Amino acid sequence: MNILMVASECVPFIKVGGLADVVGTVPKYLKRLGHDIRIILPKYKAIDGKKFNLQTLPFRLSVQVGKSNENFRIKKCVTEDKIEVYFIENMHFFNRAGIYGEGGLDYNDNKERYIFFCRTALESVKALMFRPDIIHCHDWQTGLIPAYLKTNLKNDGFFWSTSCVFTIHNIAYQGQFGASTVEDAGFSWKDFTSEKLEYYNNVNFMKCGIAMADAVSTVSPTYAKEIKEFNGRGMEVVLKSRHDEVYGILNGIDYDYWNPLTDKVIASNYDKNNLIGKILCKKDLQKICGFKICDNTYLLGCVSRLDDQKGFDIIVDALYNLKDFDMQFVVLGSGSNEIKKKLKGAALNIPNKIAVFFDSNETLAHKIYAGCDSYMMPSKFEPCGLSQMIALAYGTIPIVNRTGGLSDTIAYYNHFTKEGNGFVFNITYGENFVQTILKSYKIFKDKQNWNTVILNALSSNFSWDKSVLEYENMYNDLITSKLKETVFIRS
Ligand code: ADP
Repeated sequence: MNILMVASECVPFIKVGGLADVVGTVPKYLKRLGHDIRIILPKYKAIDGKKFNLQTLPFRLSVQVGKSNENFRIKKCVTEDKIEVYFIENMHFFNRAGIYGEGGLDYNDNKERYIFFCRTALESVKALMFRPDIIHCHDWQTGLIPAYLKTNLKNDGFFWSTSCVFTIHNIAYQGQFGASTVEDAGFSWKDFTSEKLEYYNNVNFMKCGIAMADAVSTVSPTYAKEIKEFNGRGMEVVLKSRHDEVYGILNGIDYDYWNPLTDKVIASNYDKNNLIGKILCKKDLQKICGFKICDNTYLLGCVSRLDDQKGFDIIVDALYNLKDFDMQFVVLGSGSNEIKKKLKGAALNIPNKIAVFFDSNETLAHKIYAGCDSYMMPSKFEPCGLSQMIALAYGTIPIVNRTGGLSDTIAYYNHFTKEGNGFVFNITYGENFVQTILKSYKIFKDKQNWNTVILNALSSNFSWDKSVLEYENMYNDLITSKLKETVFIRS
């Protein structure tokens, strides 16, 4: 089948969070299943045209955004896996220092930027003569695509066989703008209804995606339940109206990339048959952090967007509460200045035990995943979370709050049965991160048990193989019902 992925991030080109990992990895697996899959992204300034050998295609196209006619070009490259990736180039909207904003603030024309992106994606497939069976849209930035297909393009023959999937990676970011968006995006006011574009007298891109895609998915089964019941940030009713069409498909990770046996940037390679390399990685990380080098000291880390979602208030609280224990902490993150200030304060107050790096640094991220004993992830909510799966792949033990995808991937280590790959607490039930770290510390001191939990972590498997089949099934169901619909209309 012909599949088009439309997203605002994708590894290796541009990454802010886990969305990029997913959009960069799922196509590889779909390609292996024999599908013709292509990707459309904005050509952000940070995407290095030379490095990726981007070629400009001969089209000169334009779309309307508000009152202005915006020109764009399409650039193209072909990945190692032979996937064609197209980039929408427009200097005004995408040739900026940031992706969604700068200095902690969103760009004030994000509405126009992503109206533009949605319209250009649909125009581009026509220009490219690539007729998709499935358009798979990701997060609010692409939420208007299902809306265009169900309204302005409803009778457009080019898309007669196209079904649209909308995947929610994080429902906290919705892209909500005033009612004038209807005109800015070129919709008709007759579609400004609660079933279609309208949301409390605004246009909410996420709601458009949920309400008008042929199927909706999110990135873990538990998050799919949570957002329908209580964690949907106002989208509960819209989600419930989709009944069984909201799928929870667990994200996976790319084990070709996150592999301690072949990882080229960590100090020493290892796997479950030989863990000496992990000790060397710990030494290397302790050196980088300026810590005492000692294998018996409990080293905990985290690589994350600095955002309240990730529970940094809980982490900072733990840093102070655990300062008298033989523990070290390393945090790599970029994002909120407020959180940076708190982390920096803790590092200054508790010398030689806390290292903080405020950067987006892939190499250091690998070294943290490999070198730490445990991985801190007390997220308040977590659609899926890739970091805990990456930590498992490196035998680094996640300590997580029981929410969303963390519930689906981490099971409490039981030292009687020797089962479990991490340590879990439940904020909702008043359970405590510090106490959970102390319980894990007790196991850490018991080398035999600790070795077992490391082996359990290394044996956990969240590869994309199974999840991609679930996507494929969902696509097939949509194509089948589209065919039935067409036969019905024609007969
Ligand atoms: P989210 O998508 O909410 O940010 P995930 O756990 O799903 O969280 O994915 C985060 C991804 O981004 C992981 O691959 C993680 O290693 C990476 N990451 C986060 N912050 C940084 C950083 N400062 N430097 C390098 N990688 C980072």
